Amino acid sequence: MSGAGFGVLHARLRRERAGRAPTESPTPLDERMMARALHLAAEAGAAGEVPVGAVVYELSSGAVLSEASNTREHARDPAGHAEFLAVVEACRTLGDWRLNACGVAVTLEPCPMCAGLMVNARVGRVVYGAADPKGGACRSLYTITTDPRLNHRVALVPGVMALESAALLRSFFRARRGRGRGPGGDAGA
Ligand SMILES: [Zn+2]
Repeated sequence: MSGAGFGVLHARLRRERAGRAPTESPTPLDERMMARALHLAAEAGAAGEVPVGAVVYELSSGAVLSEASNTREHARDPAGHAEFLAVVEACRTLGDWRLNACGVAVTLEPCPMCAGLMVNARVGRVVYGAADPKGGACRSLYTITTDPRLNHRVALVPGVMALESAALLRSFFRARRGRGRGPGGDAGA
């Protein structure tokens, strides 16, 4: 098959996979939490980290349990993704590894590592901003958070304030390329 043929096939497979992940609409609480996550993302970007932010909150009360942004560059930690850190911190705050009653708002679609952590932490709801066609594991490349073969499924709310989130990432990578840091690499959420 030609390269173009593979491209078409790949795009079709991606659409089909994405179509298999059931989604929900954002609540006003989800949107408030995403605004908070976006603020954290902007702060991270200003500090030289990939601008991704995350907030874990109780779905019933709206109480914030934890907040985090990417720390991978400064901590030299491949697990330094915003939502990974926020989920671990929320478990500490709650004194429980189960987050069934909690939502996670994160500005970029979670990667396989973070989506896997969310399944393992029994997260109730994941609200994300921009899709990540190169690494997203909720809808773009994989559907880990809604895979019926796993023992937990997460309510999925994609695309919340996606334009704002994507604009932050775009301007961050554009500035980094301008400083000669190469093509940018993966966003890492
Ligand atoms: Zn991640």
